[in-house]
Amino acid sequence: MSTPSEPGGGAALPFLPLCEPEIRGNEWKYIKECLDTNWVSSVGAFVTRFENDVANYVGTKHGVATVNGTAALHVALRTVGIQADDEVLVPTLTFIAPANAVRYLGAHPVFIDAEPDTWQMDPELLKRFLEKDCTAKDGRVIHRSSGRRIGAVLPVHVHGHPCDMDPILEVARRFDLRVIEDATEGLGGRYRDRPLGSFGDLACFSFNGNKLITTGGGGMIVTNDDAWAEKARYLTTQAKDDPIEYIHHEVGYNYRLTNLQAAMGCAQMEKLEEYVEAKRRIARVYHEAVADLPGLTPQGEAEWARSADWMYSMRVDASRYGMGSRDLFRRLQEARIQSRPLWQPLHRSPAYPGAPCVGGEVAERINREALSLPCSVGLTDEQQQRVVACLRSFAPPGLN
Ligand SMILES: *Cc1c(COP(=O)(O)O)cnc(C)c1O
Repeated sequence: MSTPSEPGGGAALPFLPLCEPEIRGNEWKYIKECLDTNWVSSVGAFVTRFENDVANYVGTKHGVATVNGTAALHVALRTVGIQADDEVLVPTLTFIAPANAVRYLGAHPVFIDAEPDTWQMDPELLKRFLEKDCTAKDGRVIHRSSGRRIGAVLPVHVHGHPCDMDPILEVARRFDLRVIEDATEGLGGRYRDRPLGSFGDLACFSFNGNKLITTGGGGMIVTNDDAWAEKARYLTTQAKDDPIEYIHHEVGYNYRLTNLQAAMGCAQMEKLEEYVEAKRRIARVYHEAVADLPGLTPQGEAEWARSADWMYSMRVDASRYGMGSRDLFRRLQEARIQSRPLWQPLHRSPAYPGAPCVGGEVAERINREALSLPCSVGLTDEQQQRVVACLRSFAPPGLN
């Protein structure tokens, strides 16, 4: 085993994680309140308050809390009527959860490639697919090669940067498709000055430990539609129609968030704006440092975007930087700094053999070249400078 060595030598520096939760508000106080009052389970004042806090922040009428973001996606898809053998349009460059949620219903994802600068679902490819590869039949949109109905579009705001929603919504409206926004990474981000999560028919959030705010584990569906909110709430509570006789007309899920978790969520929501500011400041500092180094290209921010900057990532061009993303990953690891490549594009995933993908080369390139850097809300200037110093010291000689 080799001993990790730091640039500059000396004793081993502390391990610097990629993305940690930040707990420094009323979490203890609110959770203690649950314990003191015995309201610990899936009903309670904090659940309702957390739902209202998130819905108010996003600007939607309703919020329905769930056990996690994947469950939120699962229920959102079922709420808009996705059925077995439907197809749902999902980006190929994303964490796997939205595609899995589609499969839970027996439906199938059709993957869409990313746009090369912002790394979001490419609206041009989406449009081309619907116009060229699908036909309208009896009020349904049918994917010609599979014969299946297209049920919905599921854009994901990758790393908190918005998808280009206007053209996505325009083409979805034209083909009468529902839009489910996977805003799990996008809380705090804005598209043309409107909060992410307010664009889809329904939108989903996650409060997992690595997200901008956390409840340990948790999720939320938001929507402006009364009937969909009611349906989503119904499905998350075992589809119970009669609370006394326990009559159920459908197969539901036990997907509710507990009051304990929601209490933590309420405390975290009080800090949300401050945390977004911290993320954006961290991104700016990296951005300036990276701009001076050859072969490093940050994930872009479009002029219509205000990214939540949930995860700071850049592409590493081996021919100009002198090493590729995986070598840089290893060098950072030796310096006790955690970094992470991007997800394997889903059309390449062994979990989705043979799944159709529109394009795919852009996602493959980002997967090969991109690396995310430590960007916890609580990252100190000193910690960030440690990362920047490594990036500089590894760069081709002549620059230092
Ligand atoms: C985190 C995440 C999810 C799932 O959220 P969980 O709360 O972990 O189930 C879904 N989609 C994306 C894009 C995510 O990053």
